[in-house]
Amino acid sequence: MKFIPENVWKYLSVKLPVLGAFLLGVLPVLIQEGINTQLIPTEYHALLLSVVLPALAYIGRKIAQPQLHNQSLGFAAITAGHSNTDPGAVNGKIKEADLVVNFRNAVTHYLREAGLQVKTDGTGTKNDPLSAAVKLIKGSSVAVEFHMNAAASKQANGIETIALPRDKKLAQDLSKAVADALGSRLRGDNGWIDQSKSARGRLAYVNAGGLIVELGFISNEDELARFNARYWLAAKAVAKVLINYEKGA
Ligand SMILES: [Zn+2]
Repeated sequence: MKFIPENVWKYLSVKLPVLGAFLLGVLPVLIQEGINTQLIPTEYHALLLSVVLPALAYIGRKIAQPQLHNQSLGFAAITAGHSNTDPGAVNGKIKEADLVVNFRNAVTHYLREAGLQVKTDGTGTKNDPLSAAVKLIKGSSVAVEFHMNAAASKQANGIETIALPRDKKLAQDLSKAVADALGSRLRGDNGWIDQSKSARGRLAYVNAGGLIVELGFISNEDELARFNARYWLAAKAVAKVLINYEKGA
């Protein structure tokens, strides 16, 4: 026999029968001692306990305790690249940091709607710097940060996710979700870029176990227009990949 290393008292299926045993078994005896009259005739004791206690255990097992399940899942860290003071790549008046903040907010919305715990590097237009995003990775079950690429050539295009080899599958799934929603192509190994092969070299965020999704090229007018028109769809698809990942599917 092997014991589960956890505190069982958080479960209603344990708490309710114990409470029932006290109310039916112990409390009447204490009261009877005081008033000198029998509250529950002896012949009913066994019947009451054998019916009520299993019923309480059943009810306790059926009542949903969602807070217990969220704890065991950990949380998803969802962050936006750059910060309120660092705009990232720029195309005219359009800033990478603003686009990825919108994307972060949309993904967060869909994840929370599905009941997942999410930690972000800000809400609304707030976008904390990289140091804050890296800190969120610790304790998370999955950590994803969004960026947009930029290149001197306006033709450069496509979606890629930079991640450690252990996250290759998740990286490919995330890139495909974005590419399908935006009508873009995949870069790298079916959307995955091993950071050891990345032109940017080792990234602190990826080294700490996070994944960086490049949502397209801000420098490519066509890709930028498709991003602006459909980023909600891409965010919904990304959230779906993360929800399945969290559920172990
Ligand atoms: Zn960036």
